[in-house]
Amino acid sequence: MKKEYCGLFGVYGHKEAARMIYFGLYAQQHRGQESAGIVTWDGETIREQKGMGLVADVFNERHLGKELKGSIGMGHVRYSTTGASLIRNAQPFIVRHGDLRLAVAHNGNLVNTYELRAELEQNGSIFQTTMDTEVFAHLIIKYLHESDTIEEAIAKACNRLRGAYSMLILANDKLIAIKDPNGFRPLALGRVGDKYVFASETCAFDLIEAEYLRPLAPGEMVTIHENKLSTMRFCECKKKSQCIFELIYFARPDSYVFGNVVYEQRKAMGAMLAKEAPVDADYVMPFPDSGNYAAVGYSQESGLPLELAMIRNHYVGRTFIQPSQDMRDFSVRVKLNPVKSMVQGKRILIVEDSVVRGTTIRARVKKLRELGAREIHLRVSCPPIRFPCFYGIDFSSKGELIAANHPTEDIARFMGIDSLHYLTIPGLLDSVVDDNAWCLACFDGNYPVPLSDRMGKDCLEASPGIKKESCI
Ligand code: 5GP
Ligand code: MG
Repeated sequence: MKKEYCGLFGVYGHKEAARMIYFGLYAQQHRGQESAGIVTWDGETIREQKGMGLVADVFNERHLGKELKGSIGMGHVRYSTTGASLIRNAQPFIVRHGDLRLAVAHNGNLVNTYELRAELEQNGSIFQTTMDTEVFAHLIIKYLHESDTIEEAIAKACNRLRGAYSMLILANDKLIAIKDPNGFRPLALGRVGDKYVFASETCAFDLIEAEYLRPLAPGEMVTIHENKLSTMRFCECKKKSQCIFELIYFARPDSYVFGNVVYEQRKAMGAMLAKEAPVDADYVMPFPDSGNYAAVGYSQESGLPLELAMIRNHYVGRTFIQPSQDMRDFSVRVKLNPVKSMVQGKRILIVEDSVVRGTTIRARVKKLRELGAREIHLRVSCPPIRFPCFYGIDFSSKGELIAANHPTEDIARFMGIDSLHYLTIPGLLDSVVDDNAWCLACFDGNYPVPLSDRMGKDCLEASPGIKKESCI
């Protein structure tokens, strides 16, 4: 299964558009390290530069200063996944149709790609990639013939999609931003001077000194044309289901996502953990970097001192190949290493943001034991991840998820820890702003957008235990 967990950035009417986009992507590199792409509208056509790897490696001065001409444009960073990583699948995706030059950059994952693709193929469409984004581009072209404006065609195309999509679309000299009616993935509107910008996360605005205006609403389409903004609802939002994992792990703590400051939300989760499961320990130690913020919250709430005694190597390459469990353990060792003198005889309370396969914790707890830790307690600032995500997060099959297959007591034993507590779902909802706006499918298996026929069938087979009503 494909997973798309990406970063978007767009700018309208800026004389240094390509450079702005470059910085916007640079600030969002954590959202995707597999490939990066920038497209600009030069007044006549779309210019593009895409490549595999990090933003700083894909673009050079020639691209930014000369080739990516124009004052309107957007870019995309794509998340590294276990599947084939192909330049062909790098975004933004471009199609040409008559005088229209259309580029689409997508963050999220559709759950009815199979049917849409089959329908389009039956009507003669030919696909170049395996991306759901290409399916969307074809749909837009299809509806263009029965629409007065590109916005109308996009709205019609969107109404055929199911799943998660925040997207930026460059249609000649229009820049259009859309968010699916459930609002799964973040997308924000900002302004630099009198020019509009869009980004998945607002840390991108900070870098270019843009002002954050607001998040897009679920089902909203914003068009910027000739420097003017217009907005419409292409679909009614019946129930928000924003990805709570953005707050738990994915987004940068200095960002606003869905209108919330990630740092504060993570601290609140940590504080809630301390209330739910206090323990007497010598200190609180996060597994950096993602565990740091909840650990601050835990420490402040509990009064236990915070020690940053697990050190992270920041240069661990994204190409770290992990063919076997042994190699995974090795890569954890490369990434995280304890300060030895802090461990001997100590009662350590570890705060981790999430446990997926359990590799990180198991490998490092073993080391802490070898170094003479007296007690090791683990507090996880999210509930047990028991179900795969079909809307864009890289929790592939249930078989890999440790909490899907084992009760908490067994996990504690298996990890060699003295106590284990996961933040409860009510505790998590209490810690975040707006407790009714979230997708919790990875915790409770309630999928807000049912999976389509074929995908649903595949998923039921791969992950027994998924509720049948999640599939249509
Ligand atoms: P585990 O080692 O249990 O498989 O994974 C848990 C660790 O991976 C945690 O430290 C968590 O911060 C991190 N993590 C959670 N989700 C993701 C993800 O989607 N990608 C990556 N690279 N790390 C993740
Ligand atoms: Mg982590």
